Amino acid sequence: MYTDATFQKLKSISELIVLNMEPKNSSNIVWRYAALERGVRVLIESQCRPVCSNCLSSCCCRADICKETFNSTLLKKLHGEKESSHQFSDRYGWLTERGCGLALGRPPVCYEFFCEDVLARQPSNTHRYVLKTLGQLISHSGENALGEKHLIDIRSDEELETVDIEHICEQINEARSALEHIQYFYENGELEHDGLEQLSKIRLPTAPLRN
Ligand code: SF4
Ligand code: SF4
Repeated sequence: MYTDATFQKLKSISELIVLNMEPKNSSNIVWRYAALERGVRVLIESQCRPVCSNCLSSCCCRADICKETFNSTLLKKLHGEKESSHQFSDRYGWLTERGCGLALGRPPVCYEFFCEDVLARQPSNTHRYVLKTLGQLISHSGENALGEKHLIDIRSDEELETVDIEHICEQINEARSALEHIQYFYENGELEHDGLEQLSKIRLPTAPLRN
């Protein structure tokens, strides 16, 4: 039997293999999107936890947003749950006492929204810009998957097979590149020389940036 550590290692290796494969079909997109979502979630949680873990009465999670996870073909593949899941409640959706119960397959808006408290706790305009850009990576990766339709608005396997795979993989690659710059920023307190250029492909700054 595999230990958790062995399983995680095998999973990382298989992710790496898929990420380096030519993007031939939609399952390749699902893996790439999952790897991106995992990276975004971990970073956002580390940045927001100090504020969000104390937010009990005015939490921004809503059951109607949680329900969107059952309408999207991609999100259903990612979280692998049914609406009858005992972890899902009509009143609280996926929300548990420890936060969202979904590791993967959350609607993009769940990563995109930051309340005033979270933004006010950011130490500079640059930190606010980097956090908002981080929150947009998931949404960016799925834009215009089928005409103007977003990847998470695809409602069937058949439709998912017809999305513009090259285009989605290109956007996921842009988002992954920005994610690496954002990780560097949080570890070193500044953006690398071409970091702003990469992040600007996702979102333009709206205020002067200083560290
Ligand atoms: S983003 Fe703001 S409102 Fe939402 S859970 Fe965190 S602290 Fe609460
Ligand atoms: S973060 Fe999770 S619990 Fe909160 S709205 Fe999104 S899916 Fe629901």
